[in-house]
Amino acid sequence: MDPEVTSILKDAEEGRPITRWEAKLLLSLPERSLGAALLRSAANSISRRRFGNAGLLLGQIGVDMAPCDGDCAFCFFARSHTRVEPSILSAEEVLDRCRRYLAGGAQGVFLMTMHRFGFDWFCDLCERLRAAMPAGFEILANVGDISLIQLAELREAGVTGAYHVCRLREGIDSHMKPESRRRTIERILEAGLGWYTMCEPVGPEHTPEELVEQIWLGVDLPCTQHGAMQRFPVPGSPLHRHGRVTLERLAQIVAVVVLATLENAELKSVAVNVSNSVGLFSGANAFFPEAGEPEAGEATAVMQTGEGGFTTALWRQSSEITTADCRGMLMEAGFSHLMDARGAPVRAL
Ligand code: SF4
Repeated sequence: MDPEVTSILKDAEEGRPITRWEAKLLLSLPERSLGAALLRSAANSISRRRFGNAGLLLGQIGVDMAPCDGDCAFCFFARSHTRVEPSILSAEEVLDRCRRYLAGGAQGVFLMTMHRFGFDWFCDLCERLRAAMPAGFEILANVGDISLIQLAELREAGVTGAYHVCRLREGIDSHMKPESRRRTIERILEAGLGWYTMCEPVGPEHTPEELVEQIWLGVDLPCTQHGAMQRFPVPGSPLHRHGRVTLERLAQIVAVVVLATLENAELKSVAVNVSNSVGLFSGANAFFPEAGEPEAGEATAVMQTGEGGFTTALWRQSSEITTADCRGMLMEAGFSHLMDARGAPVRAL
């Protein structure tokens, strides 16, 4: 064991956040090494203490789907290689899915659109949800780069937070400028919304230096949630050839996020996507279920076909992971409670 790694983990156990240099060292450890295992274990115990052994579920609904001008080289919807047809989910369907998320213990929902989207339509949708859902249910926007005035309008409509990322290799693997992405993040904070972010979309080709650089935006600025998300290789996309990272590698990145954000007072949870148990044993305490609670007698495994909205299951061409599945994984991992997005316990698991 590298004594430097042991010393970094001991300091982190005592509350000292890791530096960029230390994060790079920890991300350079081979994913199946003893050092990486100890890193994940340290992040697990630190995170359980920090968040009171409670987990958070936030649903996701892709409400607007179309060939997207963002044209990201990894994305299912990139204009250059997608086959999707434009479609929009009805407000009734969105509401129904939100109620099912709520029934399964989710404390809010991310509403996802393409880079360009109909702002007035989206605002109206948020207003309808706000009127129909309990006050504590978070309505979180995952939309393109928008202005401060638009963010203020979303807040007025009942939106409480926004997911936004300056992605790994932004501007190289996407048609967007890193500066525009960062400016939107600053505007989210200026508008008084909670900022949700992640290290994403992680692929095997990303170096420790690139990962650290991307993670640190969420260390330097006050995010409500940080985490890590793997990139699923979309057939026909330019980055398909790289394949995907293992859950061990994804969890190693989650663990580094946990140790880097020890002094970030606004941080209330650390997410991992795709939802998986390895992440839960490495410091993650938040999942993004892809469907809410199944009704009695309903098959729990629903194949994502892209008809009527989307979730990350569409990328995997796989069944949706439900709130029931997520609670099951949290229970198996020994979590005791579900919490709300601000960190308060809401119910026992
Ligand atoms: S990742 Fe987002 S911005 Fe990029 S192509 Fe996909 S939907 Fe568009």
